[in-house]
Formats: sequence, C-alpha cells, structure tokens
Amino acid sequence: MIAPEFWSIPTDAPSESELARKTATLKQRLLDIDSRFSDVRFATSLAAEDMVITDAIVQSKANIKLFTLATGRLHQETVDMTKTTEKHYGISIAQVYPEESDVQAFIDQYGMNGFYDGEVAKKACCGARKIKPLNAALLGADAWLTGQRREQSTTRVELNLEELDDARGIAKFNPLFDWTEADIWAYIKQEGVPVHPLHLKGYPSIGCEPCTRQVKQGEDIRAGRWWWLQSDSKECGLHVNK
Ligand code: SF4
Repeated sequence: MIAPEFWSIPTDAPSESELARKTATLKQRLLDIDSRFSDVRFATSLAAEDMVITDAIVQSKANIKLFTLATGRLHQETVDMTKTTEKHYGISIAQVYPEESDVQAFIDQYGMNGFYDGEVAKKACCGARKIKPLNAALLGADAWLTGQRREQSTTRVELNLEELDDARGIAKFNPLFDWTEADIWAYIKQEGVPVHPLHLKGYPSIGCEPCTRQVKQGEDIRAGRWWWLQSDSKECGLHVNK
C-alpha cells in the first residue's frame, strides 16, 4: 500500500454531466482531426492521460496510429503496460527504438547515467533516446497528438488544442489541453481504462525509470520528473515547437 505522504489517485470528480460533455467533446475532437488529416499518429507513454486518449480513439473509431518511444530506460511496468493495453483494446502499438549508435555516443561522452550531471547531458540523452526516434516515428505523418494538459505544469499553461509543430512542419494536437486531473481519473474509472501500476505507487507522471520518482502530496504533479533540475527544465524536448 502506498505511504500516505505520496501523491495518490484523486477521488474528487466532475459532475456526471460535465464528464459526459468533456468525453463527447474529446471524441469529436479526435474525429475532426482524423477528417482533416490523412496520417495522424499518437505518441503514447501509457500513463493516465495517454490511456484516456487511447480509449477515446478506440471508442470513436478515429483512424489514428499509436506508437510508443521504447527508450531502453523505461520501467518494466511501462513495458508490460504496452502489452496490457494492446490486449485490452485489441490494437497494436508500434515500438520506436533509438539508434544504438546514438545511445552509445551519449554513453561514451557522458556515461550511462550522465544526465544527472545537468541540463546539457539530460538534453543529449533525451535527444538520442526520445527526440530523434520521435522525429523518425513522425516521418510521413501530417498531424500528431499528445496527452499534455494545461494544468500539468507551469511549462504548459498556454497550451491550445491545435498548434503548429514548427520543428517538424506538421500539426500537433493536445485534445486534453483543457482537462483537469480529476476529469482524467473520473474518465478512467467510468470507462474501466487500464491503469499503469506506478500510478498506484505515488507516480502521477511517468517517464524513464532513472528520471522519474514518486511525488509527495501537494507537490507539482511533474515534480518527480528530472527532480534534480529547475522546474522550467521539466520537459524532454518532445514538445518544443521551435
Ligand atoms: S528521460 Fe532520462 S533516461 Fe529518458 S531519455 Fe531523457 S534523460 Fe535519458
């Protein structure tokens, strides 16, 4: 059982009518995106927000392909969650791996866990294990989705539904941009969405194993990501548009 000092899944919830409205809006957003673009892809981390989107994609039958960034540093629970999700929904989630040569170049320069040395090394590791694979995974796509929400952190307060991903020259959508944490967990409960086991152990946000830890009650929900860095560095670069 999780120690009481750590974050736990919220028990507050929106009204039934509010959740129904947001759910219908989410599905309509996905269908609208599907109708406007020919090749839409979704990068799932298997964490709560991304599971809501996955569930809504399946329920709405929007034609959106799923992939996950298999960085090589994920928790075993995340690896297992991919299989759980595929089985639950009867879908395939493409595994996108980093280039071995890029990973080796990082290790040669910084060491396996060199990202703890600071922002430059962390960016280099995320570049090799996440950004370059993401770029490869999005080749040929004309739009992609993320599970980002405004409420998640100070770096996301200006999120909108639709953005231009300048770096890749394609559209980018944040269909949960206006959802609260309570909305997410109410949806998961209502729809019986599979839950990543680390959410039950004090992790509100889940990334690579060495860069993610539990969060205390009352802390920012992304406080456990790259905790040794300043709060304005708590992004891996996946969502930098310029
Ligand atoms: S989250 Fe950590 S281990 Fe994962 S790619 Fe970034 S720096 Fe490397």
